[in-house]
Amino acid sequence: MREKLYEVFKGFTGRIVLGKSHCGRPIDAFILGNQNDELTVMAGGFHGSEWLTILILIKFLNDLLKEGSESATCIIPCVNPDGTEIAISGANSSGKYKDLVEKISPNKTECWQANARGVDINHNFDANWENLRKMEIENNITGPAATRFGGKSPESELETKAICDFCRKFNVKKVFAFHSQGEVIYWNYGNKTPHESENLAKKLSDASGYELDFPEGLAVGGGFKDWFIEKFQRPGFTIEIGKGKNPLPLDSAEKIYNKIKKMLWHCID
Ligand SMILES: [Zn+2]
Repeated sequence: MREKLYEVFKGFTGRIVLGKSHCGRPIDAFILGNQNDELTVMAGGFHGSEWLTILILIKFLNDLLKEGSESATCIIPCVNPDGTEIAISGANSSGKYKDLVEKISPNKTECWQANARGVDINHNFDANWENLRKMEIENNITGPAATRFGGKSPESELETKAICDFCRKFNVKKVFAFHSQGEVIYWNYGNKTPHESENLAKKLSDASGYELDFPEGLAVGGGFKDWFIEKFQRPGFTIEIGKGKNPLPLDSAEKIYNKIKKMLWHCID
């Protein structure tokens, strides 16, 4: 039995907790292979209502454990566990931030994207953050909100800091941030984008049928892939899974997974 288990979990280093959310929920990472090797990071659940990304990454983790991974891989299924709970279960799941969440979204929270403090994690990374902040204000986003408020300063949020600290501590060679929706892949961020990014992006696009695209306006800067490209000058990607309106329906998970499965394996090539 023990040998059989070992076979299933070959190369599995284990679960580590990157940090805790503002409500105290753990932010888990699962590392397959040697954690001191160059790691590929695949992360999801940045935005509350995009919880399908979490399911997709857990399913992929399951396949990786069964089939074995050639390269060291780190899966972070849910960067924003509080926002995810708020989107699924409502304001009651946001602890001491319940009043704030209710004030921002009085009736329903299923489209909630931010963390429990009303900060959009993917606007909170230190990549041209000041400029993004200016654009937020021009769009009347001046304080805690369900989406697109970047916080008081870059990495002001525990969730953002947790994943940044991980990238600073480990030898991360490339990152993939999973969002929904649109069936598009973003790979470019200013002049720090490494040359190999475009080729890999094309490979991912060929494997999935997802289009390559360039973000605009409030989708430029402040994001995880932007920060990673700028700080490390290594490849970073945002992949928008599925098509429709967030939250994507639960029963579309299988179909989405089957469509992008080949692409997911290319991510860890
Ligand atoms: Zn998103």
